[in-house]
Amino acid sequence: MLILLKSGASAVQIEAISARAKELSLIPQPVRSGSLELLSLTGATAAVDPAAFASMPGVARVMNLSAPFRLASREFRREDTTVDVAGVRIGPGTFTVMAGPCSIESPAQAADAANAVKAAGAPVLRGGLYKPRTSPYSFQGLGAEGFALMDTLRAQTGLRFVTEAIDEQSLEQVEAHADMIQIGARNMQNFSLLRRAGRSKLPVLLKRGMSATLEEWLNAADYVLSGGNPNVVLCERGIRTFNTHARNTLDLGVIPAARELTHLPILVDPSHGTGRATHVPAMACAALAAGADGLLVEVHPDPGHALSDGDQSLTPERFNALMKLLRQLAPAFGRAL
Ligand code: PEP
Ligand code: MN
Repeated sequence: MLILLKSGASAVQIEAISARAKELSLIPQPVRSGSLELLSLTGATAAVDPAAFASMPGVARVMNLSAPFRLASREFRREDTTVDVAGVRIGPGTFTVMAGPCSIESPAQAADAANAVKAAGAPVLRGGLYKPRTSPYSFQGLGAEGFALMDTLRAQTGLRFVTEAIDEQSLEQVEAHADMIQIGARNMQNFSLLRRAGRSKLPVLLKRGMSATLEEWLNAADYVLSGGNPNVVLCERGIRTFNTHARNTLDLGVIPAARELTHLPILVDPSHGTGRATHVPAMACAALAAGADGLLVEVHPDPGHALSDGDQSLTPERFNALMKLLRQLAPAFGRAL
């Protein structure tokens, strides 16, 4: 059960609501969502009539939620949420493409990638500085020393920048230098990292864990949302299945399913979702048709020499062609690129 408090509800009123909850053997927990103040009640809520709270002073609305996640749910917010990434909107009516290399490797590679992304018309540059790699011997990213480079490129190109935080320390650096914090698939259930992201002012791109159910993914979003950060964008990036024809199975079916359950925007990453550059354009178009709010695409100036994920990275030429195609298709799906 979730109680939306009236703006300006007094401490005495909130205390009275909490006391009523405790009398009913429920556990009240204060939660913030942007400017909204809420009380989340847990315990045997099914046996409690919302009328017990509805007329109490300070109560705006009582929501009896059927899903375990709360702030991500459609029951909490009926209308689709638009997330603002430093002036770039992600949500209904738009199709937002974030693109760039898997890893930022060098000043020249980053500049070439940024220029290609900008020339093709995508507003947000992606690029990992902290890379969660399967092998400890693989390239781990430039780390903190890459931020100065990205500051310069951001200023030169006007592109927004999204990059991954892998722990609380790197999240603080990302906060100081980027426009959006990426939480990777491997960290989707790193609950202390999610809680830290919940205290951030920056929007969060939350990738789906490679074996996470939709419900687990939305619960992960609630970890961020319940910390007070209302700006979460989900990103489907493929899940582990028995298939051997691709790196992952891009689960586009999760988009309409998620739409029913959540108001949060959803991006699709066809690069990690397929692992193959030749498969990316088809799945990018399919993501648009499936109702995604945009894409996260890997683009590298020289994929053959990439330090990570070269096989799935588009060349600037292929990316430009994809953007042209998406620009033609988007209006048919009610989206502007
Ligand atoms: C990435 O975006 O480069 C990445 C590591 O993605 P994921 O967390 O989805 O594997
Ligand atoms: Mn990658």
